[in-house]
Amino acid sequence: MDAASTAGLSEATTPAPDAAVGRASVPVPGLRRIRELPDELISQIAAGEVIDRPAAVVRELVDNALDAGATQVTVRLAGGGVRAIVVEDDGCGIAPDDLPLALKRHATSKVASLDELERVATMGFRGEALAATASVADVAITSRTADASHAWRLQARTGELSPAARATGTTVEVLELFFSTPARRKFLKTDATELGHALEAVRRHALARPDVGFAVWHEGRLVAQWRALSAGQGDLRLREVLGAEFEAASRPLQARLGPLALAGRVGQPEAARTRGDWQYLFVNGRFVRDRLLAHAVRSAYEDQLHGSRQPAYALFVQIAPELVDVNVHPAKAEVRFRDGRAVHQALRRAVEEALAPTRAAPGADDDNPGLPPAAGQPGGPSPAIEPSPAAAPSPAWRPAWQPGLQLPEPAPLAVQERAPQWAWAEKATPPVDAAAWPLGRAIAQIGGVYVLAENPQGLVVVDMHAAHERIVYERLKRAAAAGADDGALPSQPLLIPVSFAATPLELATAEAEQSTLLRLGLDVAPLSSATLVVRSRPAALPDADLAELARAVLAELASAEAGGASRVVQRARDDILATMACHGAVRANRRLTLDEMNALLREMEATERADTCNHGRPTWRQVSLKELDALFLRGR
Ligand code: ADP
Ligand code: MG
Repeated sequence: MDAASTAGLSEATTPAPDAAVGRASVPVPGLRRIRELPDELISQIAAGEVIDRPAAVVRELVDNALDAGATQVTVRLAGGGVRAIVVEDDGCGIAPDDLPLALKRHATSKVASLDELERVATMGFRGEALAATASVADVAITSRTADASHAWRLQARTGELSPAARATGTTVEVLELFFSTPARRKFLKTDATELGHALEAVRRHALARPDVGFAVWHEGRLVAQWRALSAGQGDLRLREVLGAEFEAASRPLQARLGPLALAGRVGQPEAARTRGDWQYLFVNGRFVRDRLLAHAVRSAYEDQLHGSRQPAYALFVQIAPELVDVNVHPAKAEVRFRDGRAVHQALRRAVEEALAPTRAAPGADDDNPGLPPAAGQPGGPSPAIEPSPAAAPSPAWRPAWQPGLQLPEPAPLAVQERAPQWAWAEKATPPVDAAAWPLGRAIAQIGGVYVLAENPQGLVVVDMHAAHERIVYERLKRAAAAGADDGALPSQPLLIPVSFAATPLELATAEAEQSTLLRLGLDVAPLSSATLVVRSRPAALPDADLAELARAVLAELASAEAGGASRVVQRARDDILATMACHGAVRANRRLTLDEMNALLREMEATERADTCNHGRPTWRQVSLKELDALFLRGR
């Protein structure tokens, strides 16, 4: 359980009518009598598990609409869903006599026996969502069944039932979420962030149900729409929801193994992301965050994805309902398989097969060739070793003290030959440059990461990314400080705008935080319902990968708490600049020329706090001649 829901749990006890329950002092164990909790409090406790933010309400209401056989679901939101969530469907409706029951805890039309629970095929079955929602918000249900002459509306708070008008189907209105539990409300993020999460919830449903049409409105504006497709058009829905970019960077997967049917698309390693926000797993049409399944998929990428890179995928698992238990998590986000091992194995194999179809079917690769692995990655060219022509030793240096020793040819790594010991022992004048430059003269780059330089003290080893990150960070801070409009970063329009596939959260954040982004020198705007475009970049970041930069900044902004842009700029501005610096800094495995290396060293010398990177790690180390001597057991 996350911090928010834990807090919701404890905070739910505060507004209880019973004074003893709400008492602040810690009761002495054993002194208080056991009592049954009031129904309202039970629901609020349950709500803490199921309803943690507007998106959870959206998920539950859309689940209900789909269970009712809807072909069209419309979601209307205000204030990111905190002020209002209205979900309309054209499903079977609820008979007026049943309306009060719909709001009762543990009242459901979906399962009637243990036997049915074990074969449940509907999204809902716990009879909990509406009751929980009604305990933390103002809820009204308007519904009409096909045989009724008109609709009925039930106001949850008052229990008032009145005639209403609408076509067959149901409308559920949820107003002022958490109005009675202010502590919980405080955990909500900005409207834009909540809207993003709500959109994400609908997006998951849209992926699972191409046969249903979905529309999402926010404050009167249509923010997402997917038309109902015929059953066979799942691929089209996938492209509409996840974008052509994902389709191009992914491979289809289709497999049938025993009781298991698998379908979907898996992103190629190049489409991997820094976060696992593009991992869509469905079990029998239900979106899940299942460890076992996620592990199975990740392990199929084992030797292709390094470190913390997260693969992108949309995978649909179909399995006989009796072979999977969906009743193991209050929000139904996890499942348990009868035979977890078999499922793990099958999924892993299917993903491996989809990623490397050439093994089974030569030529299948042609339509969508993968990129060659980058330098430094398995199968890629070895990391750059950049010998310096200036430093190329003329006569190979031999240790004088062991003339007979056969030495291998000098390694390709060109370390500056140093003067014989007696020469520098007599305080030979070092080259003019090196004396003037504390970090010395660049001689090589190794491991794709380190720049080697020589100064009078010996060898200087620089972590080029860390060092550059600090330089860029300080540059950004200076630019912001000098900015015309109190702290805005100068920006540079792009000749060719850069567009990229974006999640609903990213889209919503880009819109809501537009002015903050502009102040950061980034003009990022929605291009379509699944694409963002960068039209200008911070002038101080000429080399950044703009899609990555924009994503990182949007993630930073989205995680900022309610209170929004202005507070972010004041308080977390340095964090954002650091994120930007990281993306503006030279990446590992980029080959630098000697001139570039020297320029980096000179910039380091001119930059404040250049000795540590933004995360506090050192950017360079000196290896003294003495230490080098010690390495070679060379006495003085
Ligand atoms: P569950 O979905 O687990 O049954 P809920 O609290 O979500 O529990 O809903 C309770 C009941 O209300 C459902 O079982 C269903 O009979 C009825 N219901 C809720 N929403 C709808 C809807 N949109 N259309 C038809 N019936 C609905
Ligand atoms: Mg339900």
